Amino acid sequence: MRDIQIGGLVSFTTIDYPTKLACVLFLVGCPLRCAYCSNPHLLCVGDGEYDPERVFEWLKSRVGKLEAVVFSGGEALMQGDAAIAYMRRVRELGFKIGLHTNGFYPDTLARASDIIDWIGLDFKATREKYPDLTGQHIAYDNMIRSLDIWLATGKDYEVRITCDPRFVTPSDLMAISDVLVSHGVEWVAIQKYIPHFEDDEHKTTPAMRDAIFADTQLRAKMNSTFKSVIWRE
Ligand code: SF4
Repeated sequence: MRDIQIGGLVSFTTIDYPTKLACVLFLVGCPLRCAYCSNPHLLCVGDGEYDPERVFEWLKSRVGKLEAVVFSGGEALMQGDAAIAYMRRVRELGFKIGLHTNGFYPDTLARASDIIDWIGLDFKATREKYPDLTGQHIAYDNMIRSLDIWLATGKDYEVRITCDPRFVTPSDLMAISDVLVSHGVEWVAIQKYIPHFEDDEHKTTPAMRDAIFADTQLRAKMNSTFKSVIWRE
């Protein structure tokens, strides 16, 4: 089996795994090409910048200091069995395992579900807008399969909706909310779109990006629909 490919590392975070002190490993490779991607340097599989064994030795030094290791990307599950094997080794050190995922690999998620403790799953747009946003026609259906697989585990999660006004309007958010309810989702985070520093704001304006967050009726409706809604600005 080839080595896992790690393209980045954040050594300490309090915001990437709920209530846990964590670090984040960014794995290279992603099957999507989202219009707003802030990690374009991680999209193509190549040589990882970090030696996985040196990272593992460093993780050993974090035992007792950190509580969780979050696998992000790119899309960490694109590395399949290599990623799962590495997660398993990290978990055996005593860390909780978190995963930030776009849900593109439901079968891999199912295989890894015994060693992953929490996921943050991107629900990027309505089914109609997914291809334009992600460049992939099967991304929505795969994400929904991942959602159902994870919900069936009964483990903790957060479904994340990033509100890029080009792809998520207030009515889209209501439509997404209906889908989430129909699947039994209770924990949701609604994230304001923040343009990446390398782009030109993608023709969005602060007022456009604020629209959903300034809509008090929409906020109240979302807050009353789910057990937990985090408004992440
Ligand atoms: S899923 Fe994430 S890493 Fe992949 S293209 Fe979209 S924003 Fe970028």
